[in-house]
Amino acid sequence: MNSLNKILEKEDFTKDDLLYLLNSSGQERLTLFEKAKEIKASFVGKKVYFRGLIEYSNYCKKNCYYCGIRAGNSRYARYRMTDDEVLEAVNYAYINNYASIVMQSGEQTNKAFVTKIESLLKKIHQQTKGEIHVTLSLGEQSEDTYRMWFEAGAHRYLLRIEVSNPELYLKLHPDNLSHDYQRRLNALKTLRKSGYQVGTGVMIGLPFQTISDLADDLLFFRDFDIDMAGMGPYIEHADTPLYRYRHELLPLKERFDLSLKMVAILRIMMKNINIAATTAMQTIDPQGREKALMVGANVIMPNLTPVKYRQDYLLYENKPCLDEEAEECKSCLEARIHMAGDTIGYGEWGDSRHFSERQV
Ligand code: SAM
Ligand code: SF4
Repeated sequence: MNSLNKILEKEDFTKDDLLYLLNSSGQERLTLFEKAKEIKASFVGKKVYFRGLIEYSNYCKKNCYYCGIRAGNSRYARYRMTDDEVLEAVNYAYINNYASIVMQSGEQTNKAFVTKIESLLKKIHQQTKGEIHVTLSLGEQSEDTYRMWFEAGAHRYLLRIEVSNPELYLKLHPDNLSHDYQRRLNALKTLRKSGYQVGTGVMIGLPFQTISDLADDLLFFRDFDIDMAGMGPYIEHADTPLYRYRHELLPLKERFDLSLKMVAILRIMMKNINIAATTAMQTIDPQGREKALMVGANVIMPNLTPVKYRQDYLLYENKPCLDEEAEECKSCLEARIHMAGDTIGYGEWGDSRHFSERQV
């Protein structure tokens, strides 16, 4: 008990401290969670911000070994939402006071895609009188594209580094330029330069990943000085190359527990960033997102993708809420968030305080 309390009193954690915290169990694990909860309440408040999630398209040019919508998987019908469908989802967010949306998609870099996103951003801005803040999660793009989308009205960008260890990255992706670790890292730096609030994150419990890798991931977030984080457990998918390692994975419950610890430790390390309670956490535990809120997360992404597309955006198995319309999703979430002791920041952008404080 003594060592854990001593670590929690420090201003900055060493790698050994992080390993200790990630391995904590019993009462020490609960003390870690309690500390994260206190820090959340003091630095970002007991409020949760909604980002309505629009899974715009499952076309993807890449072949990440873990992802169900990788180009090489021919099992899913490929779709792209129409402008009207996107604007309808945005309108739902707008009239329900979500104040923010996230547009996520498989990675495409062709001109038609880039200009389509630009025009959608302008339409969203016009339709909501600039009152909706937009987060993009559309993969690696050129500096020109990132700047063009920023100017068209995007405010935040999520690009997970996936794993911060370049050697591990190579085991999880094909060895070619479009899956190059350095390129992904450079994309994160370009996003920062282009003015975005920048979010990144990792998957937790991947094959070949160690606790030491996770400690390094936390140090990576600190050193990159991220504004937002989205982390969650890796969940296997039968149509992907990594599936053959499924017998070597930690049990789901342990992947979930490690994810909770990652959220809690990051909240203590980076007190005023935004941290998402991710859908992958809910996949393992029906109350996974609420549990993440109780140990430091402060952002939730209710799914606004039309139900007819959801079966085709399966990044991993057992993804929840596949048949839930936005309205059902909303009322079930409200109840769950109140149970977790938080309130919802309706009508508030809930931008990263870390970002705003860096600007002054
Ligand atoms: N294509 C963009 C990209 O890769 O940045 C955005 C969409 S991608 C589907 C969003 C995230 O899904 C990825 O960053 C990855 O961490 C996560 N993901 C993919 N496959 C997963 C899996 N099997 N388990 C958990 N998360 C997964
Ligand atoms: Fe495509 Fe993103 Fe999936 Fe990789 S993680 S295959 S880039 S959708």
